[in-house]
Amino acid sequence: MTARKLDGKAVAAQIKSELKERVAALRARGITPGLGTVLVGADPASEVYVRGKHRDCREVGIESLQVRLPQSSSLEQITEAVAQLNRNPACTGFIVQLPLPEHIDEEAVLSAVDPEKDADGLHPVNLGRLVLDVDHRQDFPVPCTPRGIVELALRCGLDWNGKNVCVVGRGRTVGRPLTLLLQRHDINATVECCHRGTRDLAAHTARADVVVAAAGVPGLIGAKMVKPGAVVFDVGITRRESTAGGKAKIAGDVDPGVWETAGWLTPNPGGVGPMTRAMLLVNLVEAAQRQCAARENRDNSVKL
Ligand code: NAD
Repeated sequence: MTARKLDGKAVAAQIKSELKERVAALRARGITPGLGTVLVGADPASEVYVRGKHRDCREVGIESLQVRLPQSSSLEQITEAVAQLNRNPACTGFIVQLPLPEHIDEEAVLSAVDPEKDADGLHPVNLGRLVLDVDHRQDFPVPCTPRGIVELALRCGLDWNGKNVCVVGRGRTVGRPLTLLLQRHDINATVECCHRGTRDLAAHTARADVVVAAAGVPGLIGAKMVKPGAVVFDVGITRRESTAGGKAKIAGDVDPGVWETAGWLTPNPGGVGPMTRAMLLVNLVEAAQRQCAARENRDNSVKL
């Protein structure tokens, strides 16, 4: 058996072309979505990520607001930059690129972001909304990688309803929020979350209909750990620098042998990564739509 590819690159391209139209419609209503980024210091990987996010934005018509601060910045200087983006109407959503310098309290900076402009969906208020699921509302940003995983399966014609899902990893960006998202009523999966404390990981993965590997351990999920025909998402990323000075290679959490066991598998790279980037754009456009609707409501009530 050879697994079918869950082609994140192709699906992300489709989502971007849909977004172009949504952005054009917003512009016609007088709102241009704008992504703000706060980059502190000159970490090369962070610079690449931020550049990539603005490039994605340009492709669909979203404006860019880039704030760069020196490595030596104080907590006050960084939170002031955050406050300015909170106030700036041209910025409809923004991210603070992590990691921040060691002397900075990351939690304090992230908590200072206006939850309505939280493009990553990782603000405590938005994670709290995901936990509470009040009235099954969906009018808030959801973390990009979990959302990308759910959307990729749906757009490939796969149904989460009633499936047994084994999420490997309880990290803050993937495993933990994904475990919550999959339990939402409209998605309706049964989820277990495995981690370093799990005894006999293979016993858990082998009985799952869907395995999501988000541990950051190369080759952690081997062919024998997956039920024949299962759907497998390879999320983990470990960068291996080339000794010959060439491009770094990416190692995923899923052993290539799983292509012979699984029914569906994400390539890595080219699977969950492009979906994560596309979902940042979706979060931005949705935030701009909410801000636009709120403004129109305000304008209408003033006229009355
Ligand atoms: P993290 O890196 O903070 O934590 C990793 C988790 O994996 C921990 O909960 C840990 O308990 C678990 N884990 C580690 N070794 C394990 C093992 N041997 N068995 C079972 N569980 C184990 O988590 P994160 O920030 O959610 O990121 C997870 C991975 O996904 C990382 O490799 C990250 O680089 C990658 N990632 C990929 C994308 C993408 O777009 N493809 C996006 C975000 C994160």
